[in-house]
Formats: sequence, structure tokens, C-alpha cells
Amino acid sequence: MDNDKNKYENNEITVTFNPIKCIHAEYCANGLSEVFSTSIIPWINLEASTNKKIISQIKKCPSGALSFSRKNIKISA
Ligand code: SF4
Repeated sequence: MDNDKNKYENNEITVTFNPIKCIHAEYCANGLSEVFSTSIIPWINLEASTNKKIISQIKKCPSGALSFSRKNIKISA
């Protein structure tokens, strides 16, 4: 499921969030709080860290709620 509200982009990557899959383990907010916030909307700020760190954190999402793609190349987290 893709809608604009749950889709975040910068120059290199697109991050999508599927709230139906999220189990609220908060690995994302605990692991990279400058990007993933539990108290600010929009809750994902892709300008706050490097793509390498963001991708690494997305891969730790236990539910698959977070995923990313590089521009033009779809990669599952
Ligand atoms: S790490 Fe994944 S499952 Fe946990 S709160 Fe973040 S998006 Fe949800």
C-alpha cells in the first residue's frame, strides 16, 4: 500500500511506512531518533541523517512496516 502520507523522499531514496504492519516496537525511534520520531509530524525526517544510516535502521524494522527504494531500483528492507 502506498499513499503520499506514508511516503518520504530525498534525492536518493524513497521510504515507505505501512502502519498496518507496524507493531510499534520502536526500534526505529530508539535506533535513529533524529530521523524517526514518535512525537513529531511528519515523523520521518530523511534530511536528519545519512542514507546509509537510514537504510541500516530500516533493515532492523521487525515487522516490515518500513521499506525503502533507491531512485529507480526497488529494494525491500
Ligand atoms: S521499527 Fe518498524 S515496527 Fe517498530 S515502530 Fe518502527 S516501523 Fe513500527
